[in-house]
Amino acid sequence: MTARILVVDDILPNVKLLEAKLTSEYYEVVTAMSGEEALQKTKETMPDLVLLDIMMPGMDGFEVCTRMKADPDIAHIPVVMVTALTDTQDRVKGLECGADDFLSKPVNDTALMARVRSLVRLKMAIDEWRARETTATQLGVIQETSNTANEGIEKSNILLIEDMDFEIKKIKDTIESQGHTMQTVPTGMEAIKLTNDNKYDLIIVSLNLENEDGIRLCSHLRSNEKTRNTPILMIGGEDDIDRIARGLEIGAHDYIVRPIDRQELLARMVTQIRRKRFQEKLRSSYEVSLSMALTDTLTGLYNRRYFEVHLQKLIDNNKASGKTLGVIYTDIDHFKAVNDTYGHGVGDEVLKTFSKRLTDNLRSFDLVARIGGEEFVAVLPDTDEATAHIIAERLRRSISSQPFKTSHPEPLSITTSIGGVVIDGGDQTITQVLERADAQLYLAKHGGRNTAFFEKAGQIDPEKYRPQSRPILHNEEE
Ligand code: GH3
Ligand code: MG
Ligand code: MG
Repeated sequence: MTARILVVDDILPNVKLLEAKLTSEYYEVVTAMSGEEALQKTKETMPDLVLLDIMMPGMDGFEVCTRMKADPDIAHIPVVMVTALTDTQDRVKGLECGADDFLSKPVNDTALMARVRSLVRLKMAIDEWRARETTATQLGVIQETSNTANEGIEKSNILLIEDMDFEIKKIKDTIESQGHTMQTVPTGMEAIKLTNDNKYDLIIVSLNLENEDGIRLCSHLRSNEKTRNTPILMIGGEDDIDRIARGLEIGAHDYIVRPIDRQELLARMVTQIRRKRFQEKLRSSYEVSLSMALTDTLTGLYNRRYFEVHLQKLIDNNKASGKTLGVIYTDIDHFKAVNDTYGHGVGDEVLKTFSKRLTDNLRSFDLVARIGGEEFVAVLPDTDEATAHIIAERLRRSISSQPFKTSHPEPLSITTSIGGVVIDGGDQTITQVLERADAQLYLAKHGGRNTAFFEKAGQIDPEKYRPQSRPILHNEEE
């Protein structure tokens, strides 16, 4: 996942240090050395995230943040305030100005990367939501609901796994003072039990439990069907930094270090819950029902009309941001024979299951449309060649590896052929992009079917993408 990050600091070595760290993680870095320049660069480059120093001569960080959040064009861009470790007052004031998160100086690498990753994920979910909303508005299906990107997180339900009474009390007070509800359990076992029957917006896991390894618990929560889409916030001591880094690697979303700062807890919580809410919205049938005219009744996928408007917008956005976009065109093999042999009704059932397998194997911000009878297109924002190949191969396998159950007594073997392209920032029309993908699909059909072809790469070798020991999770967010 790449992103453009604006680093703002009036002291050159600070800028250079952050720039070096972020660049080594393949982020694109833009810099500004004053408040005025920060605002100007934000508008010019539309970064995915702003790291903002507070103390600057002239316009300080608070003022920059206030102005950003008042400007509808850039208000949705997350802002991280970089503060001195002890300045609780600054944090409160930063939050009041609309900052999304904090980093303490001197900036530690684990913290920097955890925060950057969290907020970049949030930004991607917001971007996709905004883009779909605009498409629906253009098509006259819904009225634009202004400020969706900045919606609050009222009445969240949180699960805390912690066994120290004074910490429980502090966290509970902080969270409940904001109108959220929280349940607390002292062990992972009890937590898993609760998550079977309750939905949580966030799970907070202590890494200092008396009889349990918090990291193992995080890993369990990430792989469990009921909780794998629920954000996880770890709490650890200063000595736990290595374990925290490990937790982030296995998929926990963020962390806080004790002693817990209340503002920090709330800020981290809000980021995670907002991201989850956007992802739920992207997935939810609510939006689909809003856009009935834009979806296909048999499969529930977007139809060609929506797809064309939306893809053009994604292509244009890509041109502006310089990111790459994967386009995967897929057509069921010998589908006519399914209809002819088993009847049109069974054919319809196959189309439904086929669609479900596609969506189950894509991310929430990917877009899938049914653009013809048994032809589908998946659009993958911000996706490079290598990732597009993996996803295409995953889709192909998700169809061929398991027979389709229908009302016909025998399960049916179905396969699909795939043509793919990855497009970059150049000028392109939808027609050109689809023609290019279709040319690859043609190669796949003539190359024996049940296979994927990409521009440049040619035929994708399934051996190269054999499922590893770790199963590829459906709907995986990362
Ligand atoms: P190929 O491997 O070359 O793609 O062969 P094919 O048989 O899949 O391709 P062809 O384009 O010849 O046939 C597509 C079939 O899809 C023909 C059409 O009846 C069927 N079809 C299109 N829309 C629907 C639908 O909504 N429901 C059902 N059951 N069948 C459909
Ligand atoms: Mg066809
Ligand atoms: Mg076909």
